[in-house]
Amino acid sequence: MTDDSQEKDSKEQEVEALYQRYSRTGGWRRRTRRYFRAISWILITNIFSWGKRFFDLIISIILLLVFSPIMVVAYLLSGCSFRRTQRFGQWCVIYDELSFFTNKGMGCRIVKRLHIARFPVLLNIVKGDMSFVGPLPASPGDLSLRERAVRKRYSVRPGLISPWWIRRRANIDYGTELDLDSQYVENHGILGDLGICLRAIPAILYGDGVSTAPDEITMLGIPINNLTMSEAINTILEWLSDEGPRQICFVNADCANIAYRNIDYLEVFQGADLCLADGIGLKLGGKLLSKDIVQNVNGTDMFPMLCESFAGTDRKLFLLGARPGVPEGVTEWIKDHYPEVQICGWRDGYFRPEDEPAIIQAINDSGAHLLLVALGSPRQDLWIREHLKETGVRVAMGVGGLFDFYSGRIPRAPLWMREIGMEWLYRLIQEPGRLWKRYLIGNGLFLSRVLWERFFPKNREEG
Ligand code: UDP
Repeated sequence: MTDDSQEKDSKEQEVEALYQRYSRTGGWRRRTRRYFRAISWILITNIFSWGKRFFDLIISIILLLVFSPIMVVAYLLSGCSFRRTQRFGQWCVIYDELSFFTNKGMGCRIVKRLHIARFPVLLNIVKGDMSFVGPLPASPGDLSLRERAVRKRYSVRPGLISPWWIRRRANIDYGTELDLDSQYVENHGILGDLGICLRAIPAILYGDGVSTAPDEITMLGIPINNLTMSEAINTILEWLSDEGPRQICFVNADCANIAYRNIDYLEVFQGADLCLADGIGLKLGGKLLSKDIVQNVNGTDMFPMLCESFAGTDRKLFLLGARPGVPEGVTEWIKDHYPEVQICGWRDGYFRPEDEPAIIQAINDSGAHLLLVALGSPRQDLWIREHLKETGVRVAMGVGGLFDFYSGRIPRAPLWMREIGMEWLYRLIQEPGRLWKRYLIGNGLFLSRVLWERFFPKNREEG
């Protein structure tokens, strides 16, 4: 082939390619592909918000249809009207949140009795002011828009239920609402929202804050200090700065059951400097007595917060208890997460009585300020009462299975289980042989004892 014909061929191929590229058929295909890509992109990026809106609409319309007869009757009867509360919606657009304004009269009584005062908010959801799931609505002026986290929470529609709302009802609302809202805005998705809706069911059953939250609640003879987690930590930090010594007890339903039969154990609680309400059982017990337990203050959740407050200070920590090797695992965890915390000693909890003086001496020599004792209930609290002064520490507390969790020996229940108050079920599944009696019989026994105490308060003392 000559050079001329080769050049001609390549020119023809070029023209053919250009024709293919710009011909009507080629352009149509390209355009279709481009539209398809654009539509898929719009669908992918918006499918969640459309899906969420669709879900909100369907559910709120169904609920409105079901409850509208009662709502109309309540509205038409005397004393009931709509209350409008100004709220910041998505992108800070102001809307009126609807609820029933209850005064006196038949209509109000129906609304109060059936707990439907907030039901008109369903109209806000139909209108698109709100969603079922989202950060709780705030009124203008409640939050400062200068904060980035506040602006972030307004990038989605406010919701009837939020992760914070669920944690508040399960009594594990540590930290701040704003932080949790930010996390929600960053990570929300269809499955996450569905999970929140499911977790809302037990949260509704646990009920909202009730009538009274006294500073101290006596339950089965145990004086519970009704503190929040941060109040308890502040108290401990204060006590670590003076001489002490002080004993702190975490009281759960199982401890209360043991103390019901064991007077020595009950006396430990009665003589302790602080008894903290640990677990969902105590919250439900408080409900039965119409006295709110303000927060679930358990050692396992408190531990990282305590470590944080120890970091960079001269406060020293001693760990006593659990199986050989487990306290070492906890020290590893502390070194990984809070390297500045000073751990001045540790010892497993399987020692002979004759080893006890040496252990007490070791704690004393270590100069520890805080002693965590994990020997199980009731032994750990009885041990602290007997030896607190000899150890020379300022504060000591019994922490049960805490070392097992932080050493990784036993995994802790996932957050969603704790949010529905089912941590005990997780532990039961892990060690059914050891724990079935404690949880399956003990929880019911505890609640029935509290109920009995409510109606026959003197009976136990007389017995
Ligand atoms: N333990 C111990 N010495 C003993 C008996 C138990 O150190 O003689 C430890 C045990 O290894 C576990 C903790 O005490 O780490 C108690 O755990 P449990 O789950 O029973 O705690 P609780 O539920 O009573 O708070």
